[in-house]
Amino acid sequence: ELGDISIKEIDQIAQSSFPLCMRHLFEKLREDHHLKHGGRMQFGLFLKGIGLKLDDALAFWKAEFSQKVGAERFDKEYAYSIRHNYGREGKRTDYTPYSCQKIISSSPGVGDHHGCPYRHFSEENLRAALGKMRLNNRAVEDVMDKVRSRHYQLACTLTFEAIHGTSCDAGINHPNQYFTDSQKNLQ
Ligand code: SF4
Repeated sequence: ELGDISIKEIDQIAQSSFPLCMRHLFEKLREDHHLKHGGRMQFGLFLKGIGLKLDDALAFWKAEFSQKVGAERFDKEYAYSIRHNYGREGKRTDYTPYSCQKIISSSPGVGDHHGCPYRHFSEENLRAALGKMRLNNRAVEDVMDKVRSRHYQLACTLTFEAIHGTSCDAGINHPNQYFTDSQKNLQ
């Protein structure tokens, strides 16, 4: 079990341990100060899963969204759904973070940033994203091979292995597992 994480740590652990789907959502949130519903769900539940507490989650989302829609509108329109994700509103279900399978089978529309980059990015965008993660050419080609044969989770596993310089025999089947395995590798 990993400990709680603080807002201050998010940048650093995103760099070291977020899978590409979550790096992308984080980057877009920082860029646009906004994410549509699907992105807020996918990223918000992931952050909850890695140990971001409700109060910190509210502060984290508010810091971004208030730059776009203002603090008042954030409190009125967006805070509820964050508390909801943490089981503090509505039916009080404690929602669990999405698996790779669920994310891969989602259908992001125009302006959406959720989904799995291996499945939903264009080849050009995926290559650029892998370059940013500092994969060498050989690793990028191996990943693209898996993508072409529609083995998206294997493509993600190869990315993990290239970044961490280690093998991941179990494969990647959940973004939170990617995170946990990465953190274990760094210890
Ligand atoms: Fe995220 Fe899973 Fe896709 Fe990797 S395979 S980018 S963890 S959804």
